[in-house]
Amino acid sequence: MMNKIKYQNTLDEIYTEVITLFGQGKVANYIPALANVEPNQFSMSITLIDGQQFNVGSHESSFSIQSISKVFSYTLALRSSNKSLDKKVWREPSGNPFNSLVQLEYEGGIPRNPFINAGAIVICDSLISTSSSQENALDKMLKLVKQCSNDPSITLNQSVAKSEMQSGFRNIALANLMKSFDNINNDVTDVLQNYFSQCAIEMNVQQLSRSFLFLANQGIDPVSKEKIISSSQAKKINSLMLTCGHYDASGDFAYRVGLPGKSGVGGGIVAVIPGKMAIAVYSPELNENGNSLIGTQALELFTTKTGVSIF
Ligand code: GLN
Repeated sequence: MMNKIKYQNTLDEIYTEVITLFGQGKVANYIPALANVEPNQFSMSITLIDGQQFNVGSHESSFSIQSISKVFSYTLALRSSNKSLDKKVWREPSGNPFNSLVQLEYEGGIPRNPFINAGAIVICDSLISTSSSQENALDKMLKLVKQCSNDPSITLNQSVAKSEMQSGFRNIALANLMKSFDNINNDVTDVLQNYFSQCAIEMNVQQLSRSFLFLANQGIDPVSKEKIISSSQAKKINSLMLTCGHYDASGDFAYRVGLPGKSGVGGGIVAVIPGKMAIAVYSPELNENGNSLIGTQALELFTTKTGVSIF
């Protein structure tokens, strides 16, 4: 493995290169509470399998993890080993935008994968069905995020969740369309409330890279030694991140970066190098596919400069 000191130098180099790209993307503005985020921000964090961290930029600033939360909810869903899930959501790339309705209509209300919005809404529905009154689906999510990041201070931003509940017209349409196909069991408003709340969890890149370490270590947190999921389930999640983690730009991300990764419209991306590390990056300006423009570039530079990828 690369000399550890070199990781910090690599991050510093990436920082200098990518900040020249400020102004080329657009902050997500369809969620009013996110529209006013300062666009010119960049931070990146690596957590190695032994827990050692390297950071650059505003690495202590939290942001809305948005669709990155779908990895945690899918982790919980796999853990509950709900067999019927396989019939409720597929595992194929969609080739369509994350909030598209068209495919869902002609494919009978079954979403292509758990990382597009429709798929994540089905996962939320399933988590509500398998939760108890003592511990609801959202509590379970927060518990998992805190456990994986080893940080009990992580919480969600209620005003972001509320803002999306008021303006999430496409998600409301997706949920209702799936309900009409009998692919949502619970009350649509309850499911959406859960979905918007999980998307509104806030983390910084240090917490985020730390929290994905279990996926770099076959499902076991390598620092706390706690088992989060089985190695076979970790393989499944990483495979889904590689093929579906960036929506209709998943192929481009895999081609450029060569790692399983998951993005969110808040501007975060997290990627995994099995056996080595997890990497989180944040920069809120998005490309036309709704993925962080500078974040993708930074990850491409990282794997190119270090020569480390899954291939
Ligand atoms: N909450 C966002 C939405 O549902 C999540 C989308 C994303 O991060 N790509 O539209």
